Amino acid sequence: MKVCLTIDMEEFNDSVIWKDVEKKIDIVEAWKKIKKFLEGFDIPATFFVLGTFAEKYPDIVKSIRDRGYEVGSHFQSHQNLYLLGDDEVRKGVRMSKKVLGKVKGFRAPMYSMHKGIAKILKDENFVYDSSVFPSIFYPHPSIRNVEKKLRIGSERIGAPYKIDGLLEIPLTVFPSYIGLPITGTTIRLYGGLISSLLKFYRKEVFVVNVHPFEFVGAPHVKGTPWWFSINSGQPFVDRLRSIIRNLKRMDTNFETMASVAGCGS
Ligand SMILES: [Zn+2]
Repeated sequence: MKVCLTIDMEEFNDSVIWKDVEKKIDIVEAWKKIKKFLEGFDIPATFFVLGTFAEKYPDIVKSIRDRGYEVGSHFQSHQNLYLLGDDEVRKGVRMSKKVLGKVKGFRAPMYSMHKGIAKILKDENFVYDSSVFPSIFYPHPSIRNVEKKLRIGSERIGAPYKIDGLLEIPLTVFPSYIGLPITGTTIRLYGGLISSLLKFYRKEVFVVNVHPFEFVGAPHVKGTPWWFSINSGQPFVDRLRSIIRNLKRMDTNFETMASVAGCGS
């Protein structure tokens, strides 16, 4: 089984999508912790970087690349793509490419992917997308207004598939019948359970998705759900470490998403 660790590089107030917040986290410190974590395991990783993040922290993006990790696009700004017209999506995709340089993969902010966006990505020479997960958690409540026919389905779990020529590498849901995505939130809430059930997961690809704020401890933001920042910081790092350790004990190969998509190492 191939395992991809993916990190969506964005500011804390990009992650807190319920409202605008002033509270910040120390991104440089978060990057140091992520780096230390990856180096401790000597595993590859894919970073989906927001264009605005790359503009503000070019040294971090350079450092990511210098270490041989993959950089993909997380769009130019953390917007719900379902609320944008095709021209705006195309513009944001192009801007992010201009800022980030060579990228092959994409993850939509808030996982707001649909067929029209897949076509734009294909036109803009992206090879793969990783925004879809077949789960009751998808689409996110804020994006459920999208027309059903545009949604990209959950036909396959744990294996890449094509959407009009673009390769979709869906986020892992686990166990399949519950549809728990392996994101920072579920790792913070159910890390121990996920870790102990991993041995039963037998699919082609296992995609983990985490965020910088989870590595350093996020402040609670009034108005957001109780679970939003709970167990961030060291408890999260410990849970993620246990998951990676257990995956490494299995018959797995850690790869970048570009490697899974056959377009990079
Ligand atoms: Zn994001």
